Amino acid sequence: MNITFLGTSSGAPTRQRNVSATAIQSGRGKDWLLVDCGEATQHQLLRTRLSPQKLRAILITHVHGDHCYGLPGLLASCQLGGRTEPLTLVGPAAVWAYVQAVIEHTEMRITYPLEFVEVTDDLNLELFGFHITSASLSHRVACWAYRLEESQQQVRLDTARLAEEGIAPSPLYRRLQQGERVVLPDGRELNGADYCIQSQDSRAVVVGGDNDRPELLADLCQGAQVLVHEATYTDAVLQRVGPEPQHSSAAQVARFAQDQQVPALILTHFSPRYRSEVRREGELSIDDLRAEALQYYAGALYLAEDFETYTLDRQGEVHLVD
Ligand SMILES: [Zn+2]
Repeated sequence: MNITFLGTSSGAPTRQRNVSATAIQSGRGKDWLLVDCGEATQHQLLRTRLSPQKLRAILITHVHGDHCYGLPGLLASCQLGGRTEPLTLVGPAAVWAYVQAVIEHTEMRITYPLEFVEVTDDLNLELFGFHITSASLSHRVACWAYRLEESQQQVRLDTARLAEEGIAPSPLYRRLQQGERVVLPDGRELNGADYCIQSQDSRAVVVGGDNDRPELLADLCQGAQVLVHEATYTDAVLQRVGPEPQHSSAAQVARFAQDQQVPALILTHFSPRYRSEVRREGELSIDDLRAEALQYYAGALYLAEDFETYTLDRQGEVHLVD
């Protein structure tokens, strides 16, 4: 499973960061889905290998502009690109009302099937190999987190048993793993199915929307390998700004991820006041957020940059792809 950040700024874009959008690509094939679609997400896509024709679903966390102003443009471009495949849109009811209003008032023509699924507490969707569930968050408008779980049936060869029976590794192993019957040089006949161990290998990522209470993600994070969550400010700035915007500080999210023992945490949605490169004295830096999170979280911590791709591998480990 790959996670590609197309926008990591909160509220407004900066020269380095566009507003929220995160692409999740399945471990199989080129199909992908998008979580949030801030303005100009389709422009960001042009700089990646993700094909809009392979986009299967868009999940919107909430109706604020920095999370969904890119939707109409992307939907329209899919039409212009000759899309015929269905597209599923998941989100709060307000998102659908907004999309329908744009379609109506701008006379946008969409002929491919566009299906809307309203997100609720008991969302339970199966989409091209992803099992998708949700949790309601705490923000100024109805806002959601999504958990995307990908399961694959794995067939492993019972090499310990083969060793015990004195069968040394050879090209026959591959045939046994495929369930074939093989005859050994000493005349013994083996049924591959007797030496295959079936296992379910599942990986899950949780992508939160804007939220000032990370603890609301506790259930969704059970057994997940990665949490992607906003860290709009440091604690000090959050104190100055006050609670009204209803965002989290890096410390809050880091403490939560540590409590839940989430193995990897990717922070995103940074206030534009934090610079990737500090040029003048007194400017706030992304490293301030990193340093704060590191005080509370001992897992694998990442601060997302636009166009970064992270892979969640079969062993459940996260790597930043070069
Ligand atoms: Zn936001």
